[in-house]
Amino acid sequence: MATEKTPSNFIRDIVDADIAKGKNGGRVHTRFPPEPNGYLHIGHAKAICISFGIARDYHGLCNLRFDDTNPEKEDVEYVDSIREDVRWLGFDWVDREYYASDYFDAIYQHALTLIKKGMAYVCDLTPDEQRKHRGTLTAPGKDSPYRGRTVEENLELFERMRRGEFDEGTRVLRAKIDMASPNITMRYPTIYRIKKASHHRTGDKWCIYPMYDFTHCISDSIEGITHSLCTLEFENNRPLYDWVLDQLGVHHPQQIEFARLNLTHTVLSKRILLKLVQQKTVSGWDDPRMPTISGFRRRGFTPSSIRNFCDRIGVAKFNSTIDVVVLENSIREELNRTAPRMMAVLDPLKVVITNYPEGKTEEMDATNNPEDPAAGTRKVPFSRELYIERDDFRETPPPKFFRLAPGQEVRLRYGYFIKCEKVLKDAEGKVLEVHCTYDPATRGGNNPPDGRKVKGTIHWVSAQHAVRAEVRLYDHLFAAKDPADVPEGQDIFVNLNPKSLTVVPGACLEPCLKDVRAGARVQFERLGYFFADPVDSRPGKPVFNRTVTLRDTWEKIEKGRK
Ligand code: ATP
Ligand code: MG
Repeated sequence: MATEKTPSNFIRDIVDADIAKGKNGGRVHTRFPPEPNGYLHIGHAKAICISFGIARDYHGLCNLRFDDTNPEKEDVEYVDSIREDVRWLGFDWVDREYYASDYFDAIYQHALTLIKKGMAYVCDLTPDEQRKHRGTLTAPGKDSPYRGRTVEENLELFERMRRGEFDEGTRVLRAKIDMASPNITMRYPTIYRIKKASHHRTGDKWCIYPMYDFTHCISDSIEGITHSLCTLEFENNRPLYDWVLDQLGVHHPQQIEFARLNLTHTVLSKRILLKLVQQKTVSGWDDPRMPTISGFRRRGFTPSSIRNFCDRIGVAKFNSTIDVVVLENSIREELNRTAPRMMAVLDPLKVVITNYPEGKTEEMDATNNPEDPAAGTRKVPFSRELYIERDDFRETPPPKFFRLAPGQEVRLRYGYFIKCEKVLKDAEGKVLEVHCTYDPATRGGNNPPDGRKVKGTIHWVSAQHAVRAEVRLYDHLFAAKDPADVPEGQDIFVNLNPKSLTVVPGACLEPCLKDVRAGARVQFERLGYFFADPVDSRPGKPVFNRTVTLRDTWEKIEKGRK
């Protein structure tokens, strides 16, 4: 990760101050605590870069902890994908892979401690009654009739809850904090509930499960975390986090909240992403249109492009939405430096060069990457019949159309100047073929000695040498900039972009791409950056995903502003 330097931010300022004070003996220990109920998305990448990044830069540690307290929604498939994604992003938790479920015994003991201190009681109110008792933002809560139970009674009832004697939803364990607190989180929060569900790790050992708030602070404490970094929606839970640890008198990490990442044209809600997978709107969690880490990986993003993006957007205390262009520019900049440039034609139109000898093939020299002289050159075959992009020819060109048109001359990159002499069409008027002549004095695409110049340069592929490939072009998953902005009574899915995927089955590539390795990244000149699909691409049958177009979208945004 040598190229990156994470800028400072308010969290790093707190860490600096804590180290200066000698707090925690100068130790820095963070954690990333995903719930294994879905694949990680780009918002999680931000959280990962923050917590693992701080550990890396302060010579501290960062744990991977699965926050697995909701047995019904969790699955080992998700655990595996999370491990793969964190590792792929370039971070390593070494042997510190933990599970909140590993702490169920300890958490249970802590619950007993609270009961014995008179700080927790078993409540028989129905969930609905509890809600009513809890009050509102403006009205204080009302005490539960069960709060007066004795310690003995509570210990006995809690033990019977654990033994499975009561039905789900009939009893909970609640912390006695403050029913009049302006913070509703503090009004006798539930800390344990009955759930007769098998857990993917603890099996049927438990039929009571601790709530997130109770689990999280205790897990942090057990692991000796110093700075517990999470998103802003947990700000209201911090007093509860602090209260539990103070009551228990155990190691007390500091919770610090930062803004969630939101991106335009997509959603970062696991619930909605799961729906997209279940209703088969996308091909899976790793569909290249998904904002998941595995989706970006399959689309051709690199770990460094995502880390650089996370550094660039910074860390703040207020929520905002980042334009997806910022993320695209991060991968664009990197691939501009690193990806070799090749030629491919997505929508082929045949060009016949009538004055070029039949059967002749020339090997033209092409530069692999002008940004990287070390990338060298390669040979590209040129012959009498070529394919060009259908869009690079116009029978009646609009003004300033500098590409191919009747009577007009254009430069073939690394090839020759060609001039359009004749257009062949079918009965419906569709252009079938364009006949051109070439100027032998322009070999390599160079200007001829007579000083004649052309304004347009286009790409091409020799027809007889072309390798056929499937190419997949992606657009935003949601057409709306803010997918949540929906007409009343409709759901977010009305904002899906019906054109988010275009499959081009018969693209023509230059022959050196025939046996391209799956996972290779290339630029197709003028078309964008492409990634040989790691699942579907085969030697002889390449499949390419477009990672991102070449267009400098910043420019477009700037223009749009004017
Ligand atoms: P859930 O609704 O299932 O809780 P979640 O997105 O909060 O979804 P977690 O698995 O609990 O998912 O998240 C793990 C960590 O990632 C948490 O610390 C959370 O704060 C952080 N995180 C989640 N979404 C974002 C986001 N959009 N931006 C930054 N951090 C995020
Ligand atoms: Mg969460």
